[in-house]
Amino acid sequence: MSICKHCKSTNTNYLEKSTIECYDCGETSIDSVLKSIERVFNVINNSLFTINGKLDYFRLMDCLEKLCSLIEEYEGETECIWSMGEYGDCTLDDLIIGAYWHFTEWHSGQASKSYSTMCILGGIYSPGCEDVDEENAAYQMLNEMANVYYEAC
Ligand SMILES: [Zn+2]
Repeated sequence: MSICKHCKSTNTNYLEKSTIECYDCGETSIDSVLKSIERVFNVINNSLFTINGKLDYFRLMDCLEKLCSLIEEYEGETECIWSMGEYGDCTLDDLIIGAYWHFTEWHSGQASKSYSTMCILGGIYSPGCEDVDEENAAYQMLNEMANVYYEAC
């Protein structure tokens, strides 16, 4: 749980827009790490799911790494933030999982940027024996992006 800025309680709940709600004092406060997570998550989502996306395939890897380090920095329960983006194109957990699966298939060797991105994603999401979910939207869009990128090379 995030910490309430008013009474320091950890009995809180994540709302939309970087806001946490405190069950003890009833106040809401803004969590700055959450704010950064939402910002980077939105930049990635825009690049994957809209034609206005600013990032190319390589910059996207940087943003995914940044997103992972912010999630690690977040002091609250990450369970509460996985559903971030649930009314949009994909949720935070779908993005991390889809991206992880994408880079397991598309990395270009242990010295490559894509490999290190995969390892960092794997630090957030530990895959069990599950198979790739082909329906995962982030996975599909990253595959398309990689196709375009490597064809242009
Ligand atoms: Zn409080």
